[in-house]
Amino acid sequence: MNTEQYVQLDEQYGAHNYHPLDVVIESASGAWLTDVDGNRYLDGLSAYSAVNQGHCHPRLLEAMQSQMHRVTLTSRAFRNDQMGLFLKELCEMMGYELALPMNTGAEAVETAIKAARKWGYQVKGVPDNQAEIIVFDGNFHGRTTTIVGFSSEEQYRADFGPFTPGFPRVAYGDIDAVAAAITPNTVGVLIEPIQGEAGVVFPPDGYLKALAELCRENNVLLITDEIQSGLGRSGKMLATDWEDVRGDILILGKALSGGFYPVSAVLADEKVLGLFKPGDHGSTYGGNPLGAAIGREALAILREEKLVERACQLGEYTLAELKKIDHPSINHVRGRGLFIGIVLNEPARPYCEKLQTAGLLCKETHENVIRFAPPLVISRTDLDWAIVQFKSAFA
Ligand SMILES: *Cc1c(COP(=O)(O)O)cnc(C)c1O
Repeated sequence: MNTEQYVQLDEQYGAHNYHPLDVVIESASGAWLTDVDGNRYLDGLSAYSAVNQGHCHPRLLEAMQSQMHRVTLTSRAFRNDQMGLFLKELCEMMGYELALPMNTGAEAVETAIKAARKWGYQVKGVPDNQAEIIVFDGNFHGRTTTIVGFSSEEQYRADFGPFTPGFPRVAYGDIDAVAAAITPNTVGVLIEPIQGEAGVVFPPDGYLKALAELCRENNVLLITDEIQSGLGRSGKMLATDWEDVRGDILILGKALSGGFYPVSAVLADEKVLGLFKPGDHGSTYGGNPLGAAIGREALAILREEKLVERACQLGEYTLAELKKIDHPSINHVRGRGLFIGIVLNEPARPYCEKLQTAGLLCKETHENVIRFAPPLVISRTDLDWAIVQFKSAFA
């Protein structure tokens, strides 16, 4: 079968909830993808930062295979010999007392919301059903009904209501707006330290620190969604590390499994996550031994291959090179680590299609931004090649 036939299959049998580039990937390794016609592409998206460790990392493959032969799923009705080790390693690496494993990012966000609300009622003393969690314009936290209910993106919400109340929304990066939105019933502020889906948007310098301070002063939990920005992507382990900020609740996903399997987690200290009692929350696959074994290896790779440091060094270099491109269609280039947005004055899709022809796969985000977020294992040579492709796309 060729590309056209695969595309036709997707279109005929799949719901049309995505608009992908018409490239059909058959295999991948490291930073490179191969399509069904034998063309090779550099991956400029990393599955939205799920494959920070690179595609089909041999160590992850090995960890998955060896666990698959032992046991894959026990459910939480029984215990398994991988989950505890995974959570210990995760907690120690991130600096939290407890963790709760889930599968997809959206599930972890839902878990964080439930944890913050429970804390609000049981510890802060908010009256029943009055808890509020402040969210931001341009947010992306997933696609469940509760989560899309507080999106500022009209299309994400349209015809999916009624929605869960209790999520006042304010401008991203405006500390006064958050201060004004805090009430005695505010239990949390849910933020992406860098907004990936909104177009790699950064809050002003010092904002995260001021936000953490504001939360502390008002007895409000700072909930950091680092599903996309975390695990090395921004050149620090967590994007909040750039301002020495620590969320009261941390949400991880995507690269937590390096692309092999959906693994997400919520981390917090005992005073918050310790409030869950048996029966309060759960997931059939959450904490399963296969996912846990993969998660352990995904974290070990990040650490042992020094991917955070790599992202920092390579990112600084790439950003400087991309900023040199002088073209009227480019408004500006911004980024941290290997989390880079090329902001255009016009739609980005035609440029992404042009880059595709050149062998570099990027996806437009928010209409006019080209996001460049390659696997963190990318070589300097491949990065130089990618930079040349950007330069010629704008020549
Ligand atoms: C991808 C993403 C999610 C949702 O994760 P899924 O695994 O797609 O449910 C939530 N928050 C952020 C910041 C994300 O980038």
